[in-house]
Amino acid sequence: MSTETDFDVIVIGGGPGGYESAIRCAQLGMKTACIDKRLLAGEPSLGGTCLNVGCIPSKALLDSSHRFESAQHELIDHGIETGEVSIDIETMMTRKDKVVKQLTGGVAQLLKGNGIEWFKGAGKLTKAADSNFVVEFTPHEGDSQSLTAKNLILASGSVPIGIPSAPVDQELIVDSTGALEFTETPKRLGVIGAGVIGLELGSVWRRLGSEVVVFEALSELLPMCDKAVARSAKQLFKKQGLEVRLSTKVSSTEVKDNQVEVTLEDGSTETFDKLIVCVGRKAYSEGLFGDGVQIPMTDRGLVEVDDTCATSIKGLYAIGDLVRGPMLAHKAMEEGMMVAERIHGEKAQVNYDTIINVVYTHPEIAWVGINEEEAKERGIEVKSGQFPLAANGRALATADSDGFVKIISCAKTDRILGMHALAPGAGDMVHQGMIGMEFGALTEDFQLMTFAHPTLSEAVHEAALSVDGRAIHAIQRKR
Ligand code: FAD
Ligand code: NAD
Repeated sequence: MSTETDFDVIVIGGGPGGYESAIRCAQLGMKTACIDKRLLAGEPSLGGTCLNVGCIPSKALLDSSHRFESAQHELIDHGIETGEVSIDIETMMTRKDKVVKQLTGGVAQLLKGNGIEWFKGAGKLTKAADSNFVVEFTPHEGDSQSLTAKNLILASGSVPIGIPSAPVDQELIVDSTGALEFTETPKRLGVIGAGVIGLELGSVWRRLGSEVVVFEALSELLPMCDKAVARSAKQLFKKQGLEVRLSTKVSSTEVKDNQVEVTLEDGSTETFDKLIVCVGRKAYSEGLFGDGVQIPMTDRGLVEVDDTCATSIKGLYAIGDLVRGPMLAHKAMEEGMMVAERIHGEKAQVNYDTIINVVYTHPEIAWVGINEEEAKERGIEVKSGQFPLAANGRALATADSDGFVKIISCAKTDRILGMHALAPGAGDMVHQGMIGMEFGALTEDFQLMTFAHPTLSEAVHEAALSVDGRAIHAIQRKR
């Protein structure tokens, strides 16, 4: 039991939103506590969904599976003969777990080093009056205690959405967490939902040898993405052997003989060794509010906040997956820092117009700002230019030339309004667009800058030139 019970700030949730806000609060001299109830392999573990069962373990497996595929099919083009290549799933998983442990342990060190008390267990808000909060803390073992604070940051994150037609048992029918723990490569893998998780984890297991079929209810892939990028990505996935069936709904599933039989809406059936359900995530606030505590919530279970993540109760904030906006770790982190600084009396803000999205397939799909469809909806007249990686020297030299970079600019002011890329390293590449947009860059600025040769970023330069019909390494129609 902790002797300290009164804090300037209590943060409930130690995910990327929660732990970053706690660190920033402590940096600003506030006495800060962070309550997190997550257990990983039976041990308390900070870092939330992102470090434990999300961004980090999935990227570790994406990397291992990419290397395996490359060793099997690409090294030979370089004259490197390997003989038969095999993968030891247990070793791959052990590496992934080590990376997770290193990072979650690192967060624990950061909290400690910043003098933040980590309460290992569940937090429940039992009193929420202006600048006067009481939290009942229940440790994993032992008695509950009351903690008080002038400010409270809710950062309890999100959990996967379930569907009645495919109840998750974490054995044969799994969610994203179960899909990070397979002990062998399923021969046939079904995936419900061709969103970010479906594409990333579907890619992992396809590269490792599964025959993967992804069922997507909508008629298009990645509806929030630029149409040209989504179309090309779909073609590439098909070429890679990732079968995405659009406009397809699963109406029921049945587990028999250690397999999952999936019945589709048209009555046909398919059998899989494993089925991943990844149809989105929902905000998580189970057990967060005590009886009689009324916090304004939306009908989707999100805590209602303004642009600064403040609720209508003074001193009460909510951030990350628990509130509106994209469910992304970096969005949660920036909101956490903003809130800490606002509690300290500063005027910090998050620019929601420049939040980057990345799908970590190969090539990666990434974008920032608006696409042409959104520009049309908003009545903004735009011009655009794109450049194929097939004409980029570095992409060809590394035999990784699928994809393109596209820039959308305001037709009247020349300001860059969006950057979209389907490219190896697209996630890093579009940061150039984000930084440009933050500084109000014009397309002309990107045209006039010198980009190093040979780099993939030259495709960004050429895409900017192409906006005005003057790309050098592609034939452009005269304007
Ligand atoms: P969370 O990370 O969910 O953390 C909330 C924490 O609060 C959890 O540890 C939870 O146990 C704890 N908690 C909840 N209630 C209580 C309570 N009452 N008391 C104490 N503790 C409590 N995003 C990206 O930006 N990039 C990616 O590549 C990416 N990959 C992903 C891959 C997968 C498979 C998944 C599932 C998600 C991925 N995400 C990715 C999304 C990202 O993980 C989330 O957006 C991010 O973790 C949200 O951060 P958060 O701090 O809001 O909540
Ligand atoms: P998602 O919202 O990205 O995709 C879910 C997909 O499932 C959608 O295309 C939807 O149309 C489809 N769907 C919904 N119900 C269906 C049904 N009954 N049958 C078939 N298809 C159905 O959700 P997700 O992939 O589960 O990921 C959840 C969230 O986690 C993401 O939105 C994202 O915020 C976050 N995440 C981010 C990353 C990243 O940044 N790289 C990676 C993984 C997860």
